[in-house]
Amino acid sequence: MEQTLIILKPSAINRSLVGDVITRFQRKGLVIAGIKMMQLDEAILREHYAHLVERPFFPTLLRSMMATPVIVMVLRGKDVVAVVRSMTGATNSRVAAPGTIRGDFGMSGQENIIHASDTPENATVEVARFFAPEEVFDYSPATLSATYADDELA
Ligand code: UDP
Ligand code: MG
Repeated sequence: MEQTLIILKPSAINRSLVGDVITRFQRKGLVIAGIKMMQLDEAILREHYAHLVERPFFPTLLRSMMATPVIVMVLRGKDVVAVVRSMTGATNSRVAAPGTIRGDFGMSGQENIIHASDTPENATVEVARFFAPEEVFDYSPATLSATYADDELA
C-alpha cells in the first residue's frame, strides 16, 4: 500500500498538538508504519525544501523548522498521499478549511503544524530522506480488515 511522510513541525510540538494530530490519522484508519523524534538541521531542510530556497521567507522557515525537535512519521493506506493532503488543508492555516488539521489547529501561514508529502513520487523520496529502511515496519494491524473491503485489500 501507498506511504506518505508527515512531519509534526515545531508548531505542533510547542503547542502540544502531537496527540491530537496523531489521533486524527489513527481514527481515519491510517497505519503508522514508522515514527520517531529528530532534530532537523540546515542540510536536510535545504534538501527537503529545495523548491523554496530562493524565496524570501526561507531563512525564517529554516529557523522555525529547527526551533525544536520534530516528530516524523510514515503513514500507510490506500491513496494515503491524497487522503492526508486533504486532511492537512491549505498551506496558510487561516485559509485552510475547518475540519482540516491546519484549519482547526493553526492561525499561521508558516507555523502550520504539519508537513505532508504532496505526490506519491515525492513521498517515496521523502520517506527515504528521513527513515532508514529498517525503521519502516510492514505489518497488518488487527483493524485493517474492518477498515477496508476485501477487494480493496487485494
Ligand atoms: N511557506 C511559507 N510561506 C509561503 C509558502 C510556504 O512560510 O508563502 C512555508 C510553510 O511552512 C509551508 C512550507 O513553507 O508549509 C512548504 O511550502 P509548500 O508550498 O510546500 O506548502 P505545503 O506543501 O506545506 O502546503
Ligand atoms: Mg509542500
